[in-house]
Amino acid sequence: MQQKTDALLLRAVDFGENDKMATLLTADFGKIGVGIKGVKKAGAKLKVAAQPFCFAEYVLAERGGRYTVTGASLYDGFYALTESVETYYAAAAVCEVCDKLVFEGMDGKASLLLAVTALKELAEGKGAPALIRFLLQILAIAGYPVGMEKCPKCGKMPTGRMRFDFASGAFFCDGCEVGEPASEATYFALRSASNLSGESTKDGEKRALRLLYTYVAYQTDLELNSLREYIKLI
Ligand SMILES: [Zn+2]
Repeated sequence: MQQKTDALLLRAVDFGENDKMATLLTADFGKIGVGIKGVKKAGAKLKVAAQPFCFAEYVLAERGGRYTVTGASLYDGFYALTESVETYYAAAAVCEVCDKLVFEGMDGKASLLLAVTALKELAEGKGAPALIRFLLQILAIAGYPVGMEKCPKCGKMPTGRMRFDFASGAFFCDGCEVGEPASEATYFALRSASNLSGESTKDGEKRALRLLYTYVAYQTDLELNSLREYIKLI
């Protein structure tokens, strides 16, 4: 049976002489594994369907629960993402997060929209704030929201020295003594990316990404390698 779905290619590896096995984030079936045949031959018509960051309407043939790509109409290849190393790693981080954090049963449409929006913003040169915004949104969908409003213990807005609790995912004021020390710059970079009040700085953005990297590792035991590389580069 043939089925069509909008999807983003998250990852592809060589399989056999001419084929690839890929992971797609689809609007209709969530995250799935697919086979893409004959993509390594010169002039292969499915070549584009196996390119990194390919966002397309994929045509899938399903047999016994296994999917094979039989066609793809490209919406966007986000080619600008490969023009700088930093942007490439930021985009790779978006795909890696989807690959590792989107699980079966999670809303494919919402995750796909967030990922494609983030890739578009990164391709436009929006950099770290776009990646921070994406991470906060996808983490919230995956059940790991970040609390950056009032301190959950005393109800005041944290200012100056503050703390972040990796277990509950929230910022606390310093005096309430919950969690690890965190900077106001980190807090403001996260708030600014979420369209809340707070001035973002380059240093704050780097710290915010480091905090999110550590938070994901704390909550899920997953290491986001592309995100770690991106943080080193900015
Ligand atoms: Zn407090």
